[in-house]
Formats: sequence, structure tokens, C-alpha cells
Amino acid sequence: MGADIVVVGSLNMDLSVKVTRRPLKGETVLGSAFLASPGGKGANQAFAAGRLGASVAMIGKVGDDAFGGQLLSRLGEAGVDVSGIATVADVPTGIASIQVDPEGDNSIVVAPGANETLVPADIRARERLIAEAKLLMVQLEIPLDTVLEAARLARKHGVPVLLDPAPARELPAELLALVDYIVPNESEIAELTGIAVSDKASAIQAANDLMSRGVATVFSKLGANGVVVIRKEEAFTVAGYRVVPVDTTAAGDAFAGALATALVSGKSLKEAARFANAVGALAVTKPGAQSAMPDLAEAERFMKEAAQAAESSNSSN
Ligand code: ADP
Repeated sequence: MGADIVVVGSLNMDLSVKVTRRPLKGETVLGSAFLASPGGKGANQAFAAGRLGASVAMIGKVGDDAFGGQLLSRLGEAGVDVSGIATVADVPTGIASIQVDPEGDNSIVVAPGANETLVPADIRARERLIAEAKLLMVQLEIPLDTVLEAARLARKHGVPVLLDPAPARELPAELLALVDYIVPNESEIAELTGIAVSDKASAIQAANDLMSRGVATVFSKLGANGVVVIRKEEAFTVAGYRVVPVDTTAAGDAFAGALATALVSGKSLKEAARFANAVGALAVTKPGAQSAMPDLAEAERFMKEAAQAAESSNSSN
């Protein structure tokens, strides 16, 4: 039996250093608090879904080096089937070099390494994995041709496609026409539609543009303000959960992994959006990417406590 969710995407080791200020050209500055932590949007989303108990397999590439091995073993710990992740010689595992300044702002350089060598033929070689899935998840940190090939194969086998259009870029018409669920944040939906989204009305306007190009369901993410869900028959807002943000890294990946988990388990769109919001919010309360992903028990407890808090504040009003 194959996995319910197949993720085709990137794996990176995130190498972050705290700096008091960014180095100027030709200058060396001393940093502190170096941290190597598993990341990459594909791996983060697979990890998030795995931690929440979904059956997940990933297709991707890492280099034959220490980072590659660490990324694979971390995914394995979340129960992700990594047999579709090839370890390739002569190319490094993807990395992100991250400088964090005292204000908490990041400067990031990504060297895609092995991710860049994931080509359409690699996806065709794993066609069965996609054919047996209930959902394909893709993002934009691997070559676009490869994303497109994965989406084509999914459509061929009647498997719905969830696209996280990150990092933001313009997309070919063919890809959008193959997308069932899209989960853009504010800057990504602006890049795709030219519409600045800040509330339900503008989200509907932008979603109409995406739907006219063939996307079935749009989850327009509004950060702390939650998400507007739009499809032909309906549009509704699911409020965000109120939390004290610690580190917003991978909030979007947590959201996508949770959404996929809920959708393959047969939850309604509204329930799925609420669950994704809760998992996204929990992820911002903890540092790091994969280290911030909650498990199912934690997510359920959080939702229950939030519901109880809302009820008691209602009854005291
Ligand atoms: P991305 O990481 O793609 O930029 P967002 O910032 O929109 O994505 O965050 C993804 C999701 O994580 C949001 O839709 C929301 O559910 C949750 N989230 C993000 N930031 C916050 C926050 N400050 N408070 C509560 N939830 C948040």
C-alpha cells in the first residue's frame, strides 16, 4: 500500500547564525548561536503531516553528505516514508544560510544543491507512488518542470493536488489548471493575481481570478488573522488563533501539512481550515521549522482549550 499523502519537494539544512549586524562587503563579523536545523518547504510539510499522524511519503533528493543523512533520519522519526528520496553523488544537500539580526529579521541565501537536480524523469520513475495517493503536495523550491510533471501525473490518476505557491513567483497557466487546493499568503496571492489581499472581500476577488484559471479551492492565508476559504459554491473566513509569536518560520508549512492531513482524513473544508489554523498558530509559538511542528495530541488539546476559553469569555459577557 502506498501513502495517503505524497510530497514532491525540497529538503534543506537551515544554517542560522545570530549577528549583531550584517557584514559589509569584504568584512568578517563574529556571529553567535549557530544552529543547523532540518528545513526545506517539502520536508517541513511532509514532517508536519507525519507528526500529525498522516501516512506520508516524500519524493526528493539530497546529497551524499552528513546533512542529507540527518534530513532523512529526521523525516523517518516523523514516520515519513523516505524511500522516494534519492541520495545523489557529487552534489551537496540543499542549504539555507540564514543571518538573524537583533531585530529578529532574517537575511537568507539558499543554495538548492540536490533539490535542483530533481527532474521530471525522477517523478515519472515514482509514478506509482503518486497514483496510489489520496493527495499530492507540491511547493516551488524545486524546478518548475518537475512540479508540473508531478501535477500532471496526479491529474492522470485522479489524485487532487495541493500547491503551496512559495517562494512567490509567476506560474504557468498549465500548472494552475491542475491545482485543486492552493494556499497562498498575502505576498504570494499578490504575485499571482496582482491583487492586494487584506480581508474577505479582496480575498474573494483574488480567488475569483485564480478560479477562472482553473484552481478549484483557494485558502487565502492572512497570517494572525486566519484564512479565507473560497470555492465556487461558498466563501467563508476561519479566524486565526491568538498566540504570542516566538518564531514564524515554517508557519505556512505547518498550515499546509495540517490541511493535507485533515483533507485526506475526510474532514470538511471548514474543519480542515480550522485545524490548519491551529497547527499554524502552534508552530509560531516555538522556534525553528520542523522542531516547531506539534503532534496530533498537542493540536487537539490546543483547539479544545481555545474553544473552552472562547466559551467562558462568552458566558462572562
Ligand atoms: P507563511 O508562513 O506562508 O507566510 P502565514 O504567515 O500566512 O504563512 O501563516 C500561515 C498560517 O499560520 C496562518 O494562516 C495562521 O493559521 C498561522 N499563523 C501565522 N502567524 C500567526 C500568528 N501570529 N498568530 C496566529 N496564527 C498564525
